[in-house]
Amino acid sequence: MIEAIAKAADERLRLYPDPACTEFREAVAARYGVAVEQVFAGNGSDEVLAFAFAAFFECQGVSGAVPILFPDITYSFYPVYARLWDVPFRTVSLKDNFSIDPDDYKQNNGGIIFPNPNAPTAKALALDAITKLAGYEEKNGKALIVDEAYIAFADKPGIKSAVTLVKQFPNLLTVHTLSKAASLAGLRVGFAIGHKDLIEALCRVRDSVNSYTVDRLALAGAAAAVSDFAYYDEVNRHVCSTREKVSASLAQMGFTVIPSQANFVFASPPASSGKSGMQVFSALREKGILVRRFDKPRINNYLRISMGTDDEMDTFLNGCAEIIRG
Ligand code: PMP
Repeated sequence: MIEAIAKAADERLRLYPDPACTEFREAVAARYGVAVEQVFAGNGSDEVLAFAFAAFFECQGVSGAVPILFPDITYSFYPVYARLWDVPFRTVSLKDNFSIDPDDYKQNNGGIIFPNPNAPTAKALALDAITKLAGYEEKNGKALIVDEAYIAFADKPGIKSAVTLVKQFPNLLTVHTLSKAASLAGLRVGFAIGHKDLIEALCRVRDSVNSYTVDRLALAGAAAAVSDFAYYDEVNRHVCSTREKVSASLAQMGFTVIPSQANFVFASPPASSGKSGMQVFSALREKGILVRRFDKPRINNYLRISMGTDDEMDTFLNGCAEIIRG
C-alpha cells in the first residue's frame, strides 16, 4: 500500500484524479464479486453516508415525506446528515440489552439506516434478520442502508456482511470504510456497494458537490489495500483476539462488558469500585489514555475503548486496574 502511494507520487499529481475512481472501484468489485457499476467511492465513508442521505431520503420540503428511521444510540453523524439535508427522522430505541430489534423498524418509514455492528454498543444483527428487513423495506419502496464500518471484526456465526444481498435487493446499500478494516483512517477512503441505479444516484449527488473528492495518492493506496485483504484479514484476526483479551481482563476487574463484534469494547466500571464512567474516563485521561464517553442517558456510565497495539492495551489495562483499585 505504501509502495503504491510512493509510485503514484510523481508528476501526475499535477493532474486531477480520476473522478470515477475506476481503478479502486475495480479492485473493490473484484474483491466482493460485484460489477464496477455497483461500487461508489468517497472521501471516507462519512462522505459516502452524507451523499446517501441526499440521494435516498426525502427532505422535509417534499410533500408526503415520511421520517427515516435509525436507532437511538448509534453513530452520532446520522442526525447530523439528516439535518444537513433537512431529512425528517425518527429514532427507534435499542432494547434493554442494547440490541437492535429489526421488527421495530417494520413500520411506515422513509428509509432505514443503521450500522452493523452498531456503534458504540458493538452489538451486531445476524444476516437473516437483515435479509427479512431488506425484504420489508423493498415492499415499502424505500432504501435500507447498512453501514458496515465494523463488519470485518464480526466473528460470531450468522453475523456477516450484507454485500451478498445486494443482488437480491435493489433497495439495499452497504457502506464500507478502509478506516477500520484496513487500519487506514488517515487515507480517507470509503465505498458503497448496491444496485447500479443506487450508485448512479450517489454519483449525481457527488457531481453536484465536487467530482474530485478522493485524491490520487489515496486512490492508489486504497486500490493496493483492497487487493491485499489476506494481510488485513490477519491483522483483523489479531484485533479480534486483542478485543477478547481486553474484554476478559475488564470483566475480571468487575466491569460490565457488552460482548463486542467490533474493534472496540463498550464497558462500564463496577459499582463496587465507587467510580463512575466519567471518573474512570477522567482518571485515564490524566494518565494520557484516551477512551470515549458519551453524555447520553442509558450509556453515560459506559466507555468505548478502541483496540490499539498490544503495548497500548497493556498500558490501558494497567491504568484501569490502578483506577479501579483506587
Ligand atoms: N460509520 C460508523 C458507524 C463509524 O463509526 C464511522 C467512524 N467513526 C464512520 C462510519 C466513518 O468512517 P470513515 O469516514 O473514517 O470512513
